[in-house]
Amino acid sequence: MQKTYDKNNIFYKIINGDIPCNKVLETEHCIAFEDINPRAKIHVLLIPKKPYVNLNDFILDADKNEKLDLFDGIAKVVEVKNLRAAGYRLLTNVGENGHQEVQHLHFHILGGQPLGSFIKKLELD
Ligand code: 5GP
Repeated sequence: MQKTYDKNNIFYKIINGDIPCNKVLETEHCIAFEDINPRAKIHVLLIPKKPYVNLNDFILDADKNEKLDLFDGIAKVVEVKNLRAAGYRLLTNVGENGHQEVQHLHFHILGGQPLGSFIKKLELD
């Protein structure tokens, strides 16, 4: 089920300049900025400027230019932060099971150090 976008979220305020951020770069359709609570030496968030709750909405509603631009944005962050050779982790949390806290689509780009294995093994039942 698609969730209604709620403008009362922190990233909407960042996009509109109501709340400051440490901007890494900006593309036509995206902004990348430092995560306020970094989980690794490098922790950048990349978000589309348009209001998408999460990846489900983006896949359904974004046009091709926005989709290409988002991947360009990721590639630019990788370049600017010099992550290509050593590697990095790209992830987006979706919905309740994904533990998405901010209800505006964002990709985490993490690196600058070994990140360990994927995620902790969960109980299956
Ligand atoms: P999620 O759990 O939704 O995938 O991740 C939300 C991320 O947003 C977290 O890593 C959190 O540290 C980051 N975050 C929350 N509020 C702010 C803020 O005001 N500014 C910045 N730059 N990052 C934030």
